[in-house]
Amino acid sequence: MDKLLHCECGFEVRDDDEGQFVARVQRHARDVHGMQLSAEEVLQLAFRAELDEAVWQQRLGDQTAGDEP
Ligand SMILES: [Zn+2]
Repeated sequence: MDKLLHCECGFEVRDDDEGQFVARVQRHARDVHGMQLSAEEVLQLAFRAELDEAVWQQRLGDQTAGDEP
């Protein structure tokens, strides 16, 4: 499964290789936001992003289904 992270600045990282994904997020965080993230922190953020996305998709699906009177 792809790892996915949306940054609040609009930057998006998606990679199915965990090591590469972590490296890309760490580089973005450092270069753009001046943040030093550990690999563990990156994976925690990605996990939350995946959860958020799953919740949103479920809500959108529910809304569409509930639109029928
Ligand atoms: Zn960013």
